[in-house]
Amino acid sequence: MALARMFSLRDYPAIRHLAYLAVLLVLPPTASATTAPETPHAPIRFLLTFDDGPSGSIYLNSTEQILDVLDHNPIQPGIKAIFFTQTRARTGGATDIGQALLRRERDDGHLLAFHTATAHHDNHRRMEPAVFEQSLQDGIADLTALTGSAPQLVRPPFWNYDERTLASYHRQGLQMLLTDLSANDGKIWGVNFSLTKRRNLLRQLTALREQWLANALPVVAGSTPVVVTFHDVNTYTARTMEIYLQLLLDVAQELDMPTAGKAFYDDRSGLEQAALARTVHNGDVSPRLPGLWNWLWK
Ligand SMILES: [Zn+2]
Repeated sequence: MALARMFSLRDYPAIRHLAYLAVLLVLPPTASATTAPETPHAPIRFLLTFDDGPSGSIYLNSTEQILDVLDHNPIQPGIKAIFFTQTRARTGGATDIGQALLRRERDDGHLLAFHTATAHHDNHRRMEPAVFEQSLQDGIADLTALTGSAPQLVRPPFWNYDERTLASYHRQGLQMLLTDLSANDGKIWGVNFSLTKRRNLLRQLTALREQWLANALPVVAGSTPVVVTFHDVNTYTARTMEIYLQLLLDVAQELDMPTAGKAFYDDRSGLEQAALARTVHNGDVSPRLPGLWNWLWK
């Protein structure tokens, strides 16, 4: 007791401070002293795109249904998307209903882009070059008249392009956007439903994850845009749209890919900037295409 009193730390402030320091150095850090490890990867943000519309259907119009869901849904109301339009499609864009839906897409804050400006879903590579060039000019004129500014984005029908068609796009001021994920909901072979929605999206996002982990994808405004393709002329897609939105969030979570605070784009200019960062500029590169298209166009 006497010895303890003689060497009480209270009497020696310098020794006391050294003792505290030694304790701090020896003890493992407490939970409150640690911070969560900072993720080196930007969160992903789903950039929704729709091809082949608008629908000209009088009854249960699929484009109209999709616009309603984007606007009002429990996951994120007010989602904005890119519509790769067919402004002169005989049964769609060329009809009064189709024209009204193009105006609604504009008024709802979505981004209108170019897909075709002929009566059908023509493959740009298979068109007569002069007809193809004219169709680009027609489509640009149609969309400029609708929105007041020239479109900046094009998506080739059937994902089919080569150096010649890509050079034509560029001459007309268009940048080509392909896709990361596809719902595979095109009506190419007369099939418009999917029994493997989740597995399909999971497989495609798993493939993209490699690039994301390698920080090989562009980051725009703090997020990595992930391009997703649907077809707004597909009635199954229209009926299933809300499920698709939830599935995208689910597969991202399953793959441990955090999404941005707002997982889907919600303003037209942010959408356009993100899309432009993902465009393909070189005809030599062979980006991964959905389904069998890489094999088909090899
Ligand atoms: Zn198409």
